Amino acid sequence: AAGAERIDFVFKVVLIGDAAVGKSQILARFARNEFTIDSKATIGVEFQTRTVVIDHKSVKAQIWDTAGQERYRAVTSAYYRGAVGAMLVYDITKRQSFDHIARWLEELRGHADKNIVIMLVGNKSDLEEQRAVPMEDAKEFAQREGLFFLETSALQATNVETAFITVLTEIFNIV
Ligand code: GDP
Repeated sequence: AAGAERIDFVFKVVLIGDAAVGKSQILARFARNEFTIDSKATIGVEFQTRTVVIDHKSVKAQIWDTAGQERYRAVTSAYYRGAVGAMLVYDITKRQSFDHIARWLEELRGHADKNIVIMLVGNKSDLEEQRAVPMEDAKEFAQREGLFFLETSALQATNVETAFITVLTEIFNIV
């Protein structure tokens, strides 16, 4: 076919959370099935896309990475505009990155559509021996706030696919 790929839906999904929790590697894993050991902080606004099929419909996920802006807590409202899904990411080995999740959630809720589908993501699950955030704490938080929750490893490609497909399917079911 001459590039006439039919797209039924485009869903914007934003990645948020502290610097170095693995947002850009989660994105690289989902969009390109890649992982880079020493990834540099991303500079400049960036999104990547991947098209998946849900219920026989072609759904293009347009996934935005904060591009290093989160270092200065300068994630702008333009970043959240039009987002129908969000991945709220912390690092299971960094307690502080989990403690900051409430703030990120507040910022997200202040900027995004009220029907936005949110997944709490505990990344770096491959580093179990360095765990600083019990899974139960995150589960409780997610339940209280009405969020989906999964632990992922962008390094080992664990649950990254499931996390995105869960969010995209939920969005699909409510549009
Ligand atoms: P960002 O600032 O949130 O985008 O974080 P990056 O994606 O740049 O990742 C920060 C660091 O954590 C990099 O050195 C990554 O290689 C590493 N990293 C990301 N995901 C994982 C993971 O699942 N497991 C491990 N062990 N390291 C990871």
